[in-house]
Amino acid sequence: MASSRMIHRTEQQRKEHPPALKSPIFCAPGAHSTGRSHLSPVPVSTMKFKDLQLNPLILKALATQGYEAPSPIQEKAIPPALEGRDLVAVAQTGTGKTAAFALPTLQWLYDNPRPSSKTKKKAIRCLVLSPTRELAAQIKDGFSAYGSGMEFRCQVIFGGVNQNPQVRKLKQGVDVLVATPGRLLDLIEQGHVPLRGVEVLVLDEADRMLDMGFIHDVKKIMERLPKDKQTLLFSATMPEDITQLAKRFLNKPIRIEVTPPATTVEKIAQSLFHVDKANKRKLLLHLMKDADVSRALVFSRTKHGANRIAEQLEKAGITAAAIHGNKSQGARERALQRFKKGTLRVLVATDIAARGIDVEGVSHVIQLDLPEVPEQYVHRIGRTARAGASGVAWAFCSVDQLGLLKNIERTIKMDIEVVDDHPFPATDTPDDVAQEQSSNRNPRSRPRTKRPAKRRGGGGQGGNRSKGSISRSGRSNSDRRKSGQANSARRTKKPSGGGRRNKR
Ligand code: AMP
Repeated sequence: MASSRMIHRTEQQRKEHPPALKSPIFCAPGAHSTGRSHLSPVPVSTMKFKDLQLNPLILKALATQGYEAPSPIQEKAIPPALEGRDLVAVAQTGTGKTAAFALPTLQWLYDNPRPSSKTKKKAIRCLVLSPTRELAAQIKDGFSAYGSGMEFRCQVIFGGVNQNPQVRKLKQGVDVLVATPGRLLDLIEQGHVPLRGVEVLVLDEADRMLDMGFIHDVKKIMERLPKDKQTLLFSATMPEDITQLAKRFLNKPIRIEVTPPATTVEKIAQSLFHVDKANKRKLLLHLMKDADVSRALVFSRTKHGANRIAEQLEKAGITAAAIHGNKSQGARERALQRFKKGTLRVLVATDIAARGIDVEGVSHVIQLDLPEVPEQYVHRIGRTARAGASGVAWAFCSVDQLGLLKNIERTIKMDIEVVDDHPFPATDTPDDVAQEQSSNRNPRSRPRTKRPAKRRGGGGQGGNRSKGSISRSGRSNSDRRKSGQANSARRTKKPSGGGRRNKR
């Protein structure tokens, strides 16, 4: 396991391979850049990068990026990773974790030039697994930027595009391969991926990979890797499956944890709109009239929903595009590029964009549906207020999502301020939703007669609620309404337009 490597990379190795300016894998500093902000989105420590014993060329690349000091995850992860230890790091995107695993890996590649035998020349030395194509591309950019002074071959492979150029690159030999699990496994099964020489494995967003049902692919890939390697596992949360994965595949890992700075969430002005499911898109169009919404990332639960939202925005003269798993890779990249450049005002996305996407200047994150997993709410709103900027997050909640809201508020340890004063106040009751769901399941049971039209406005709490009926949670609607009203009274605010800050 990693132990032989650990011995390899201690004092003795440092003496054998002192940092030098010339090495076979280094060339003149390249023009790579993450293209991202040099402002720090993450708190940086008083420690300097040079205190971490990093190679001068890496230090130079970091200076070019404008990084002054390591972020907390970098400060904690880099020293044990440089010693060759396996790591389980709990850290989220946006905390500087790409550099936390890329820097020690690059240093390892630098200190240990590739053996010259023919087969080894083609062997992949570091494999990074990422759940989404966008994040994979971003990680590759990170490696290229941090290793801009080095001669090493970094390649990204993911599905949705022709595999032939990827296979050609693999044949030429790749030092660092960043991949999404599905395409990687396809290419492995076709015999195109030389994994026997992998020295470092990075599992990024490991909990997300479990969410997305990648775990079987991930396990199959991991089983094909050599035992004697270093494994760096990064996960935003530490559910039981990740603990089991870590136990099974990692060797005496060091566990490090960096709680996301509370300020990340606190810096974002969060508001909640109670609205009927049928009115969510109308409310979105209404809110888009606010000129302060200069660059909005809109989350939709479904791919189909994302398309429909984008179409409707376009019809209203608002530049918008959707990205999700059914879009071609070309379309996904074009939409993201336009959004980054600012030529697209709204990017509508499913959760593939909740993590990883690092776009500067997202003024608003708007969630048309609340996520099932409460942590996902934090990831989504974290797409705004990046690089020290402030941001606004609006979430829409229909009556069927009140339970999700409760879990989210418990997770973020705060109540989200409710905006009651908007043109589409909620009128649906849990019974309406249950009825709609059952008629969707069984079209024959759909009532032939139309329900009476709902009453709009008038305080928003009236409508045709069936007073006193019992919801699935066992609370009567009148109970729920009473407590809902109490809550609203406690934390109601006027529409914030550009979004007023939470007072908490
Ligand atoms: P990541 O979590 O790797 O996606 O990084 C989030 C953002 O922080 C990216 O824009 C990085 O370029 C930036 N970043 C990473 N490390 C540092 C650092 N030490 N100082 C300033 N910015 C950083």
